[in-house]
Amino acid sequence: MATNVILARMGEVTLKGLNRGKFEIQLKSNLKYRLRDYGKLSIFQSQSRIWVEAKEEGNPYFENDESAKELLNAVTQVFGIVSASLARKFDGDMDSVLQNASEYVAGLLAEHPEYKTFKVESKRGDKKFPLRSPEICMEVGARILEDFPSLSVNVKQPDFILQIEIREHNYVYAGKVMGHRGLPVGTSGKGMLLLSGGIDSPVAGYMMASRGMNIDAVYFHSFPYTSEQAKEKVIELARIVSRFSGRMKLHIVNFTQIQLDLYKNSPQDMLTITMRRVMLQIAEQLALKNDCKCLITGESLGQVASQTLEAIGITNEVVDMPILRPLIGMDKESTCDLSRKIGAFETSILPYEDCCTVFVAKHPKTHPKHEDIEKAEANIDIEKMVADGVNNTEVIVI
Ligand code: ATP
Ligand code: MG
Repeated sequence: MATNVILARMGEVTLKGLNRGKFEIQLKSNLKYRLRDYGKLSIFQSQSRIWVEAKEEGNPYFENDESAKELLNAVTQVFGIVSASLARKFDGDMDSVLQNASEYVAGLLAEHPEYKTFKVESKRGDKKFPLRSPEICMEVGARILEDFPSLSVNVKQPDFILQIEIREHNYVYAGKVMGHRGLPVGTSGKGMLLLSGGIDSPVAGYMMASRGMNIDAVYFHSFPYTSEQAKEKVIELARIVSRFSGRMKLHIVNFTQIQLDLYKNSPQDMLTITMRRVMLQIAEQLALKNDCKCLITGESLGQVASQTLEAIGITNEVVDMPILRPLIGMDKESTCDLSRKIGAFETSILPYEDCCTVFVAKHPKTHPKHEDIEKAEANIDIEKMVADGVNNTEVIVI
């Protein structure tokens, strides 16, 4: 009897030397967590493959096409997976291979009546199987041509490639969904993402998670200058990032009083910089409390006044932790493409103000100097401000 299974391929993980086992265990555990709502599953790995199977009969995610796509998508969103296919698994000799290949193609053509050409590829992992790969391809090809007269072979540009794999069990499938690659989350420590409601910071979080990082996030909220909807939007963005990065704590700092105090006590043209310095210090304190080893922002060089080299240098000074800026060399268009790819764009462009746009100065200093910032902060008790911010934080587990 044939059943459907998911065959997922690992990427960079397989290049790891002695540590490979650790990465594989993390990847399996992340898959298990990501697929927790898809019924009882068994997940096992052999060589560079991971197999996901239903433990109980009748699991709709392995039967109905639309649900199967949803499951496949979830698998490919786990960092470390380069691609995945839904395959038909069966046992037996060449007769059974031919029979299953034919049944598989019948199903495929029902879904894609436009398919006219194909080719067959095969892998023989089980060297005891009496036929070799080229022979398997020939026989399967002949059988398909016989059973489906509307199809012909095209080795250069086929509409579909029928894959046959002979291993401990046999598999037939066509096509694959590309994964998000990267390294399994949990293999590179944890970072604190400064998450605003914009386009950039969710992408920055996604990028660092793709390098194996767990993510916590902090959002500076200035109610009522920034609305309740702005906060909901950030929570939704955190959810979107967490599809890739796993469980996340979102720290929401009540920033209103701090922002009003800065507004009152620091010169207009330095407001953005002083505000960003305070944000980073609060974020660093929260990071330390939550075992995060770095801060992450969505800054990109030259994008706005606070992202010139001088401004970045002056905001950097106030924290000891590394600040990772994965978008620093990216242009806006590439960031928007990534944002669409991870499903964040539509949420990011909802028109709710984030705090920087409400208190923004008309002519911010683009090339601030040291004496500028010293003057700007002279009348402010920054230490107290930071402590107040840290203490005025709400946590939501996503
Ligand atoms: P984004 O699209 O991510 O909002 P941006 O282009 O609007 O970025 P800025 O507003 O200057 O740029 O913010 C730069 C970075 O600072 C953001 O990417 C984010 O990491 C952080 N940041 C800005 N505002 C907030 C906020 N209210 N809460 C948390 N982080 C913030
Ligand atoms: Mg912003």
